[in-house]
Amino acid sequence: MPCVSNDCVFCRIVAKEIPATVVHETDSTLAFRDINPQAPVHVLVIPKEHHTDVAALAEANPALAGEVLATAAKVAESEGLRANGFRLLFNTGTYAGQEVFHVHAHVLGGAPLGPMLAR
Ligand code: AMP
Ligand code: ZN
Repeated sequence: MPCVSNDCVFCRIVAKEIPATVVHETDSTLAFRDINPQAPVHVLVIPKEHHTDVAALAEANPALAGEVLATAAKVAESEGLRANGFRLLFNTGTYAGQEVFHVHAHVLGGAPLGPMLAR
């Protein structure tokens, strides 16, 4: 669904009300660098349309979910991550520590990423 409020930071990036370092854009998706990178390459990929998390997106618009994945794969390629690999992550809800409730894929790479979960 389109974002109706002004308090979603990623809708505001889509609307160009907040600056971001955009690395890839399609009609339906936007990829930009994370403001607090956790790896040498840390890019967020979002649908321009507002959905709260990946489960809501997949239910409402599975084709758009596929476009988010396709953009993430393009970013991995253009950032030089295909040879050594990368991690694609959707934090979803409280236990995952989701902070921004506009679905976003984290594309992480550029160095060994360590175990999947901090212990
Ligand atoms: P999550 O915990 O999965 O919700 O991740 C939210 C991510 O958004 C964090 O990695 C933040 O560093 C990142 N973030 C928050 N605000 C911005 C912003 N204005 N531009 C780029 N990244 C942001
Ligand atoms: Zn939003």
